[in-house]
Amino acid sequence: MPQRHRRLTMTKSKPKTPRRRGGDPNAPTWEMWKDMVPYQSFIVTDKDNVQHKFAKGDVASILPFARTWDDKKELVQHDFWIGKIREIKAKVDEDETNEVWVDVQWYYSGSNVGDVIKSFDVSACGKYERVKSDHHDFVSSEAFNDVETLLKLNERNPYQEYIRDDVFYQRHTFEVQARKVKFEQPQPGSNTCTCNKPYSPDDKTTLMHFCPRPSCRKWYHSTCLLRAKSKERRVASWEMRLLVSSPDSDDTLVLEELVTSPPKKRQRRRPSSDDAISISPRMSLNDALELIPDDVLRIAQQPIVKGHSYKGGGIVGNVNAVACARKMVYDALSGTDLPDDWRDVLTEVGKKELSDAIVKLEDRRTIPAFICPQCEGAI
Ligand SMILES: [Zn+2]
Ligand SMILES: [Zn+2]
Repeated sequence: MPQRHRRLTMTKSKPKTPRRRGGDPNAPTWEMWKDMVPYQSFIVTDKDNVQHKFAKGDVASILPFARTWDDKKELVQHDFWIGKIREIKAKVDEDETNEVWVDVQWYYSGSNVGDVIKSFDVSACGKYERVKSDHHDFVSSEAFNDVETLLKLNERNPYQEYIRDDVFYQRHTFEVQARKVKFEQPQPGSNTCTCNKPYSPDDKTTLMHFCPRPSCRKWYHSTCLLRAKSKERRVASWEMRLLVSSPDSDDTLVLEELVTSPPKKRQRRRPSSDDAISISPRMSLNDALELIPDDVLRIAQQPIVKGHSYKGGGIVGNVNAVACARKMVYDALSGTDLPDDWRDVLTEVGKKELSDAIVKLEDRRTIPAFICPQCEGAI
């Protein structure tokens, strides 16, 4: 039977008793829960009279244990507990007042996981990072703060979406009963350097380089690359070496061959377009590259880097922009037009500036000419 779309309205007030992760003492039992009335969403009105609507499936910030709304000024966004709304139900009393309870699946902070698993490396968990758990509780609607964005971080994905450093994200799952933290990618640790130490997004000294080739797709600490002497003398053509590290092919790309390849994919460009390029198979590589917009080429020739000292990169660095820009260059050289919305592609529709994809480090360190320890491609 289709569920009716009902909505509840209530006023947020101080919780009567502190909530515990193990379950609010006032929470309904499973028996009571079965008899309660389901709803699709609820609205709470905060002290400033602002209404917040929460719906099934939303990820929400929730007032942490032993805190009251009077403490809100002292709380920063990442102090809140994070949970996903599985179900909403209400006890409707005879006087028609509602007591709304929400079945919440918890996303643990690093320190919450560390409380359960002593061996978990809490320092490698960012302050906005959450670990998806299989633990859920009934939580009073009075504890709900706001709807939040929670993005997935997959460190093997060269097209990983951008994550600002003030947005919640998740890369691991946590099986609370089994006390096991799992990577959501295959082979735990396989994507993190020769040292197998995980990426630590908030560590000010961490800087990592990515090899995007399909059989590598691995991040390396710059300190580990230096120690292993995985670098070459920086030469004038280093940008061209970076450009041929393809996110979609393990083959060594020869850009000259792309330009002179049979013109089966070649299309005519609209002559009126600002960015119109028309690369013909008779062109030299240099002439063909000159026809590609400077911004696209410059981004395609960046090393793929992430880390706290590269502010423009947020949590994930410039991986998506560089991978997309390299693909655009290969396509353009092979005769396929740049997409009209290439700026939107490279900025993920305004999530960041084009210039954020250019690696600039806070301490103005220059980046050595690192090579991938596995394939020896430029990284
Ligand atoms: Zn390392
Ligand atoms: Zn590699």
